[in-house]
Amino acid sequence: MNTLFKLQKYMGKRKLLLPCSLIISGISNLLAILPLIFIWLIIKALWNNQDIADPLLLEQYAIWAVVCAIASVLLYFLALTCSHLAAFKAEVNIRKYSMNKIIKMPIGFFDNHTSGNIRKIIDENASITHTFLAHQMPDLAGTILMPIVAFLLFFIIDWKLGLACMIPLLVSMFLMSKMMNKKGQELMNSYMTSLEDMNTEAVEYVRGIPIVKVFQQTIYSFKNFYNSIMQYKKMVTNYSDICEKPMSAYVTVINSFSFFLVPTAIIIISYGGNTSTTIINCLLYLVVSPIFSQCVMRSMYIFQALNQAQEAIDRVEDLTKTNEIQDPKEPIIPTKNDIEFKDVTFYYEGADKPAIENINLQIKEGETIALVGESGSGKTTIARLIPRFWDTTKGSVCIGDVNIKQMNKKDLMSSISFVFQNAKLFSTSIYENILFGNPKASREDIEKAIDLAQCRDIIDKLPNGLDTVIGTHGTYLSGGEQQRIAIARAILKDAPIVILDEATAFADPDNEELIRQALEKLMENKTVLIIAHRLSIVQNVDCIYVMKSGNIIESGKHNDLIEKKEVYYHMWNEYKKAISWTL
Ligand code: ADP
Ligand code: MG
Repeated sequence: MNTLFKLQKYMGKRKLLLPCSLIISGISNLLAILPLIFIWLIIKALWNNQDIADPLLLEQYAIWAVVCAIASVLLYFLALTCSHLAAFKAEVNIRKYSMNKIIKMPIGFFDNHTSGNIRKIIDENASITHTFLAHQMPDLAGTILMPIVAFLLFFIIDWKLGLACMIPLLVSMFLMSKMMNKKGQELMNSYMTSLEDMNTEAVEYVRGIPIVKVFQQTIYSFKNFYNSIMQYKKMVTNYSDICEKPMSAYVTVINSFSFFLVPTAIIIISYGGNTSTTIINCLLYLVVSPIFSQCVMRSMYIFQALNQAQEAIDRVEDLTKTNEIQDPKEPIIPTKNDIEFKDVTFYYEGADKPAIENINLQIKEGETIALVGESGSGKTTIARLIPRFWDTTKGSVCIGDVNIKQMNKKDLMSSISFVFQNAKLFSTSIYENILFGNPKASREDIEKAIDLAQCRDIIDKLPNGLDTVIGTHGTYLSGGEQQRIAIARAILKDAPIVILDEATAFADPDNEELIRQALEKLMENKTVLIIAHRLSIVQNVDCIYVMKSGNIIESGKHNDLIEKKEVYYHMWNEYKKAISWTL
């Protein structure tokens, strides 16, 4: 019921088609029994020889049998059409609503969910609901109705034979309930989880094939993938083991109606029952009883599909349960561009330790500050809290004295340019890639940005210049070149706040000087936060903050910190040693 309730909100108006489908399919199922009854009536008539004089009646029976059979098939088709219309709507809307929600997620959400993972969860789970809604729902009517009808029929005609039919039926239902209990459902859940894990790891594995080949590794080096396969194997074996005995017993019992019926008929006759009536009735039971087994079998599939649909819808809704970033009711646009962190603490989702703790820092308009410190000390986290990749757990981040939560997302985004170490370019033309920075820019603006970002040499060597599509005809850009294009994009955006996260990290020596010049242009007259591991860049900034384990442990200008002879002083000495090594 809960699952249906969740699913119906995705079906819109078409949810009314589902009960229609159930009713039509119920009628179709009833009609499907009738030909069997007519055939039985014909046999009975022939057996008793009484109506042989009336061939017309036999013909009538036969015609009705055919008519009922055809009507049943046609109605079933109609029922399936209704359920499919509803199911397709649900499937489309699950995808649509989830994507709409995903778009509103904080940007940090995409750190923990790769695009492949999001696609898989939404796409696959949306399709899983289809089986249940489109195919299993119409069958539900018959599964409930048929046993009731057959049950009544049986006890009206001959209760002793009816009783004999009940034995395999009850035993099979008991066996099925054993397989479908809570433990079975738990197994189904972990089965789906391990299937999902295996698929995700497989994608990772395919992505990593170049590395595997270069280092001549085997699949065993992909521990996670290997483990996920083993986990899946364990799951499936375990599930099969648990179902082995009840399932074999179940299949045997559900097909054994004649095994109980024939001896019962013999006993009835030997105790003085009417031979021909008993045999005729027994025939009816033999013809109709397969319907029972069909229904029990079907209800098993329905339960399975229901469990899967339930899991599927829960997984999709779980994915998007992170709070969306809402625009404030009365947004404020700051008049200045200073940035201030006030007592900011931030925990990543599920982390038991804060990534940063009680951070206070200030960047005045037009100033540049730098964050330095060992890897994992929280520098990136600080940088990402400014464009609201996540919201702070405690404390506030303000731009020009306005809490960023009181700004419209659009205003906030348009006031910040960021360049990260792994700049992402889209596989379209360089022109369009740069245009992303400011879709209203003219071609001249773009040319200017290219010059400022020191990208002229890249454009000149490409076959179609600015209009070359990246990734076609062997035109690929090196990491450093991509970085410079990304900087051109940021220069074109011309936002008053600039955030650079290890923007020179992957640059080769040739590129490094060019990138440094490009960054200088980007930072001119802006409020800037730099994260750098090459300390040469930070020498001239207005304030350096040294971070360790989520805390600021030192801050000040380069010269002051050197004089202090504490943490930064040691970092600087190490850095100088490292460059002399390179030289
Ligand atoms: P830095 O940039 O100084 O190397 P980060 O800010 O990236 O450090 O990371 C600070 C801490 O937060 C680290 O302990 C890291 O493991 C953790 N962390 C970083 N990103 C995430 C994330 N997306 N989810 C959970 N924990 C994260
Ligand atoms: Mg970092």
